[in-house]
Amino acid sequence: MEVLQPKLNSGKTADYVLEKDWSSHPLGPYEFWPTTLKCALNIIKHSKFPKLIFWGVDLFVFYNDAFRQSIGTEKHPATIGMRFDDAYPESKRRMRPVIEKVLQTGESSYFVDELVPIQRNGCISEAYWTFSHSPLMDEFGTPLGIFLDCFETTDSFTKTSLSRPAARDFKSLSDSLSQPVFATDATGVITYANSSLLAYTGKSFEELQSAGWEDIVPAEDLENVIDDWKDAVALKSSYSTEVRYKKHNGEIRSFLVSCIPVLDVNGSVIRWVGSSFDIQSLKDQEKEKDIFIGMASHELKTPVTSIKAYVQLLLRKYATNEDKLLANSLTKLDAQVNSLTILIKDMLDLSKMKTGNLELNKGQFCVDNIIRDVIDELALVHINHNFNYQNPDKSVIYCDKDRISQVLINLLTNAIKYAPDSYEISITCESTNDTLRVSITDKGIGLSKSDLEHVFERFYRSEGKNQATFPGFGIGLYIAADIVQRHNGSIGAESTLGVGSTFYFDLPISNPV
Ligand code: ADP
Repeated sequence: MEVLQPKLNSGKTADYVLEKDWSSHPLGPYEFWPTTLKCALNIIKHSKFPKLIFWGVDLFVFYNDAFRQSIGTEKHPATIGMRFDDAYPESKRRMRPVIEKVLQTGESSYFVDELVPIQRNGCISEAYWTFSHSPLMDEFGTPLGIFLDCFETTDSFTKTSLSRPAARDFKSLSDSLSQPVFATDATGVITYANSSLLAYTGKSFEELQSAGWEDIVPAEDLENVIDDWKDAVALKSSYSTEVRYKKHNGEIRSFLVSCIPVLDVNGSVIRWVGSSFDIQSLKDQEKEKDIFIGMASHELKTPVTSIKAYVQLLLRKYATNEDKLLANSLTKLDAQVNSLTILIKDMLDLSKMKTGNLELNKGQFCVDNIIRDVIDELALVHINHNFNYQNPDKSVIYCDKDRISQVLINLLTNAIKYAPDSYEISITCESTNDTLRVSITDKGIGLSKSDLEHVFERFYRSEGKNQATFPGFGIGLYIAADIVQRHNGSIGAESTLGVGSTFYFDLPISNPV
């Protein structure tokens, strides 16, 4: 019985396939081609919409008349029957992974308005496409090739197409910026780079796209960059992060990168648009400042320790002296030297934190003892204050006793300093499950909501009109937060302007680690 084989009917591209001598091609003569391939060729031939077939493991290319308009004369008819990689090397990076996934899983996929560069009219054009890839299967469900529906959307898509005024304006605007600007598809593949990013990397757009982020971001930073991006992908939310980019001359500079997702009508991310601000000089200045603080505090430590020793000596000798002016002056001098000593210690701690040299000597301590010791110490100096210690808690915490005392001192001295008209300070302990919370409440000047968001930042001081009257450096809370975090705890504050503040920290009640 004769087996009926589909024949390829009219259509210029179809005619070419029929007329071509395939005997020396790996597929062999047309009559021996698999039925699935012939059927698929018949289907695409009749369609008024651009369609392609990639057949077999070699992905031999076939397309219909409608697709011919998108490729110009350079690729037609030369690419019919060619391996995909040879026919479209410029599209390989974007298309290959998608094709391979469809062949491996047997599941269709699609993408919308994606940049897939194509060589035509003598150059590689940045063309945008909406594609759907379906597997072509045999009767046992084994994928034998790919069936591809595609529409070129370059003209209707205002991203980089120069055919529309909005697109031209976008490109001119982003090219006028000295900051690198980019866009990626939903999967992070670079689909646009402004001239600043190209100049910085010293690459053409095609080189940048095919090299990918691995070539721009130093290898050691890549994991963090990908993690940040994955978080944003999960939330479909804009984000800002610090990223280092490699420059064409080998220099590596830090940028603050802000990215926003562009969503389609269904709320799916279709692309990301990002801008990068060069913060290297700010980082260099910050480093110089850190070095200066480290050196200055180190140099100040020795003379101040010596002054402190002499003041103590004089105090011992003249504390009961008849000359009250002398005795009072020495007491005041001692208090000032103490403040200076604390400031120098904070500055030294700050530079130790920066260099990762702040060491913790942890042990098991009863929090109640630590709090009582600190209160006793402060009560000696602040004789008019009432330190109201509520709910003493006997929980044992695994901590560096001196550092946790330092946190308490910082919070309590702030409660004293920023409440000039009140002498009431409460210290409260609460333990829930495995966590202990210590809170310090004052009835002082309080903080605005916007200040409250920043008080734990380095050098942050509220800018209230009274602030100048409160001496300070803006590092006490930063150090306290760092110490608490190094104990796997957290720190926070609640405050009402003009009413008062509560600063608290939570520490895990746990066995030694
Ligand atoms: P400093 O007190 O040396 O400025 P801190 O880091 O200890 O530095 O505090 C940072 C800022 O937070 C202070 O400048 C002040 O504006 C605010 N602040 C801290 N504690 C309090 C408090 N108890 N009440 C009101 N404002 C406070």
